[in-house]
Amino acid sequence: MNSIVSNIRSIRERMEKACAKSGRDPNEVRLLLATKTVGPENIKIAFQAGETLIGENKVQEIKEKADSLMNIPHEKHFIGHLQTNKIKDILKYNVSCVQSLDRLDLAQKLHQRLLFEQKTMNVFIQVNTSAEKSKFGIGPQDAVALARQVAKLDTLRIRGLMTIGIFSAETGKLRECFKLLKNIRQEIIRENIPNVEMQELSMGMSGDLEIAIEEGATIVRVGTAIFGKRIYPDSYYWNEQQ
Ligand SMILES: *Cc1c(COP(=O)(O)O)cnc(C)c1O
Repeated sequence: MNSIVSNIRSIRERMEKACAKSGRDPNEVRLLLATKTVGPENIKIAFQAGETLIGENKVQEIKEKADSLMNIPHEKHFIGHLQTNKIKDILKYNVSCVQSLDRLDLAQKLHQRLLFEQKTMNVFIQVNTSAEKSKFGIGPQDAVALARQVAKLDTLRIRGLMTIGIFSAETGKLRECFKLLKNIRQEIIRENIPNVEMQELSMGMSGDLEIAIEEGATIVRVGTAIFGKRIYPDSYYWNEQQ
């Protein structure tokens, strides 16, 4: 069997076990393939294995892969740092959800463009739950306020929250990140903000998806464990300079 196909199987098994352990319905948790640096031929192998959801970090990569993936039905989320000058492309290439909305200025510009194109967009608010400077995301203490402001922009549909857990071997610290995201979700739900839904928690990656599922993840984002090691370090994707 192709290694991508067998890797997907083992990830699906890990997801199912984690669901069983925490008494969750496996249908509540979606697998998003984090396809940064992965070529279209390998993404196609994953689609043929039944996967349908990918997440990209760079607009340039979305452009490069668009033609090759055009004829295969799939859903595409944006999970990277989004520069405002790339918003047009996000719409052009049919991204259905921006999971990495982390600042009002970006939300406003996205809203303006969506108004102009008479479209709407699902968004998640990205929260920096680990307080690491290398990671994007709104600070946990500012997340509710950002949700309130974004909610006023009626082309944007807030559907949940996203976080990248702390880069640490200590599972306790990781779990704290995921618990924090879950608590922020509860806080936002309690606020009862019009135009805000909070069903999604996008958290957990190759190394920590079990903990994330136990803490309530509805989307786990997996790259390395399916497609193998990347040639670029994650800092290449997660830093402001890019
Ligand atoms: C790369 C990436 C992932 C996947 O990470 P892996 O450790 O390769 O599974 C998840 N989320 C984001 C935002 C990413 O950039």
